[in-house]
This record gives sequence, structure tokens and C-alpha cells, in this order.
Amino acid sequence: MSWRPAKDADCAQAKGCPPVDLVIVPRSRDIGGFEVRRALPAKERRMVGPFIFFDQMGPAVFPPGAGMDVRPHPHIGLSTLTWLFEGEILHRDSLGFVQPIRPGEVNWMTAGSGIVHSERTPPEARTGEFRAFGLQIWMALPREKEEMAPGFQHYAAESLPVIEDGGVAATLVGGTAWGETSPVAVHSDTIYADIRMAQGGRLPVPGEHEERALYVLEGVAEIAGDRFEAGSFLVLRPGDGIAVEAPSACRLMLLGGATADGPRHIWWNFVSHSKERIEQAKADWRAGRFDPVPDETEFIPLPED
Ligand code: MN
Repeated sequence: MSWRPAKDADCAQAKGCPPVDLVIVPRSRDIGGFEVRRALPAKERRMVGPFIFFDQMGPAVFPPGAGMDVRPHPHIGLSTLTWLFEGEILHRDSLGFVQPIRPGEVNWMTAGSGIVHSERTPPEARTGEFRAFGLQIWMALPREKEEMAPGFQHYAAESLPVIEDGGVAATLVGGTAWGETSPVAVHSDTIYADIRMAQGGRLPVPGEHEERALYVLEGVAEIAGDRFEAGSFLVLRPGDGIAVEAPSACRLMLLGGATADGPRHIWWNFVSHSKERIEQAKADWRAGRFDPVPDETEFIPLPED
């Protein structure tokens, strides 16, 4: 396979318009032994396509015996996609799914009208030192799908398209790009790709998606002569096919899709176009009205306002 030429490649440079509209430097927080960097939502920008939450967890090293324990908690109105670079997480949900996820695989959970899940380091991974590094993202559901039935799917690494050409390898985690489509059952026009670039590599970023951003995970990426370091979240100007160059080896995530059908409210783990619906979800969790996760007894209480 090879890259399809990006439409109007380099036209942004030719017109003298900077292709990067906005640079977000994610806030970094320590949550009980490991670092989380949150790029979305940011005060400058709430969403990019369906992406409403973009969190880098780690890299972190846990000593033997320790690990990550995210106790059961509810979601509505969104899908979550887990993508790991190191480590392993055991997912359990209120539909009864028990699914470990390892690097290269996808856990895709659609909350719709409501789901509860836990995410924990599996017991057998705690016997030695344990490394954790990955991305947790949420995509808002289109309004007409916000109350759809919840679902969970796991995708093996081999099921995801990989496009390789000229020192660049892209795994299409979700959505459509470069003439390929990921099997992940997204609910609106999406692009989500994990891109590894060798020094001197050149990546054409397609212009066909309405909103796009690049997240520099490792190394340095160059766009129209400007260099962006790891940890930079770059919102791209709509419409133009652009090229990213690698002055040295780097790893990037490309994300985006169709502009959402109106603004979303986000409160704790709940996403909705309707404030009232979020209040309902808060009341439901407080009153124990969500379905429980089999074999779990703990839960995360509703945060105080
Ligand atoms: Mn969750």
C-alpha cells in the first residue's frame, strides 16, 4: 500500500496561511502515582470532530504489587476508545464483558443511554514491575444516537489497517483515511490514526475531514517549517491537505472528523447535548439506578458539585 497524495498538499504554505490554527499544551496532573495529560476539553477548544476528551496516561512504572484501579463508574452519551502503548488493562462492564486490552488492540465501548465499567491492572501483571502508557479518548455520540443501547467491542491488533510508505507507518485505529477504513464501529465521520515516522519521513494529512488535530506523542514534528515537541496538541486549519515532516523519529496521533451537531455538556463521566439529561444521570448514579458490573462490589461515588 502507498499514500494517496493529499489533496492540495502544501497549499497552506503556498497561500501563506499557517496550517496550525491552535496549539494546546495539555494540563498535567498526578492521579495517584501516575501522570495524566489532558488535551481535550481545553478552554481554547472543546472538541475536534467527535473527540471531546483526550487523555494521555503515563508513561508510568508501578512497583511490584501496585497497579491501576479505576473502580466502577457510569457513562452516558459517548463512546470510549482505549489505545495502549505499554501495559495491560482489564475492562469489566455492566453488560457482562470482561476483556483485557494490550498494546495494538482496541477496546471500544459505547455508553449510549448508560453503562458502568471498571478498568484495573490485572492481578497477574502485578507480580513484577508494571509499565503503563496509553491514550483514553471519548467521542461524543450524534444527538440521535445519544440514547442508543450500550455496547462493547474488542478489536485484535491484526484487524486494524496499517499503511506504510516512505519511512512512515500509520495504524488506522478508527475511522477512514488514505483510502482505508478501520473496523471499529464509530458513530460519525472519524479519523484516528497512530503514526510512526522515521527521520526524514513525510506524512500527507488528508483534508477530507472537517476538523483535525495532531498530537505529538514522542519526538518532534515539523509542519510548514515550524517544529512542535512531544506533548503538543495541534488543531489544524480546516480544509487543507498538509504534510508533516520528521526532523527526527517521532510518533503522532491524528484525530478528527465531522463537526459535532451542536455543543455538548460534559460533567464528570457524562456527555449530553442536554443539561437536564446530565442531571438525570447524576440522580440515577446517586440512587444506584445504573446496572451493576458483575463481580465488582466497589464503585466511585458521584463527585460533589
Ligand atoms: Mn470510564
